[in-house]
Amino acid sequence: MFSSPFLPLPAGLKIATTSMRDDLLLVQVVSTKVRSCCPLCFCPAERRHSQYTRVVADLPCAGFRVQLILHVRRFFCDTADCIRKIFTERLPAFVLPWARLTVRLCEALQSLGEASCGELGTRLAERLAIQTSPTTILRRIMVLPTAAREQVSELGIDDFSFRRGRKFGTILVDMQSHNVIDLLPDRKVETAKAWMKAHPEIKLVSRDRGGDYASAAASGAPQAIQCADRFHVLKSLGEALEGVLARHLAAHRTRLTKELGARPLETAQPRQSPKLRT
Ligand SMILES: [Zn+2]
Repeated sequence: MFSSPFLPLPAGLKIATTSMRDDLLLVQVVSTKVRSCCPLCFCPAERRHSQYTRVVADLPCAGFRVQLILHVRRFFCDTADCIRKIFTERLPAFVLPWARLTVRLCEALQSLGEASCGELGTRLAERLAIQTSPTTILRRIMVLPTAAREQVSELGIDDFSFRRGRKFGTILVDMQSHNVIDLLPDRKVETAKAWMKAHPEIKLVSRDRGGDYASAAASGAPQAIQCADRFHVLKSLGEALEGVLARHLAAHRTRLTKELGARPLETAQPRQSPKLRT
C-alpha cells in the first residue's frame, strides 16, 4: 500500500494497486483506520462486521479519467442505547454517503457549471477527461447553498415560469450586483408586497409595465421610485412602432385603392407581371 502525490487521499486511505483500462485509471483504495465513529451516536467502534466496495469517480489524473474502488468496512456499534447496530465506515470529507463522485470532483463540476452552464460545462469537462452530463452539472449547482439575503437598494422584479405557460413565479434581482436574490412561488401582488415590506431599504423598483408589480411596489415599498426596465421599455416601443406602421400601411392602401378607382379603366388595370425567361 502506498500514497501518491499525483492522487492525494485523506488520512486513513491508501492506494493498494492501480491499473489502466483504455483511458480509465482504476485505483484500488483501502481504508487503514482502526476505528470509525457511528454516524448516529458518534461513538468510536472497532469491532468489524464486514467489508464492501464502493466505486466512485474522482478528478482526472494526467488526462486520464480516474475511478476509485474503495474497500471500506462495516462496524458494529457497541453503544448500548444506540439503535444503529451496524454502520458503514464514513469518509465525509472525501466521499459523501451513497455518492458516486468524490467531493473534490463534485466541486470541480460545480465550478464548471458556475463558469459556464450545463451544456457548455459538459463539453469542457469532456476536454478535461471528466465524464458527466448537463443534468449532473445543473444538479450540482442546485444543491449549492444560496447566499445570505443582502440589503438591496435597487430591485428588479419580473415574472418567470417554473413550467412554461403553466406555473409562474417572481424573480427578484439586485440591479447593482446583477444577482438573483430571491424567487417567490407565485406572481401575486400580495406576495411581492410582503417581500418588499420586509426590505425598507429599497430605493428603486425596476419592473414591467403591467399593473401587478406596480401595485405591489406602491404599497410594499412606497418610498421607492418606480421605473420600467429596459427590456419592457424596448418591448413596448417595438409594439407601439408596429401599431403605428400598421395604421400607416392601412391608410396607404386605402389611398392607393381610391387612386386606382379614380383612374380610367385602361390605366387602372394592374400591370401584367413580366414573363419569366425560359
Ligand atoms: Zn451508534
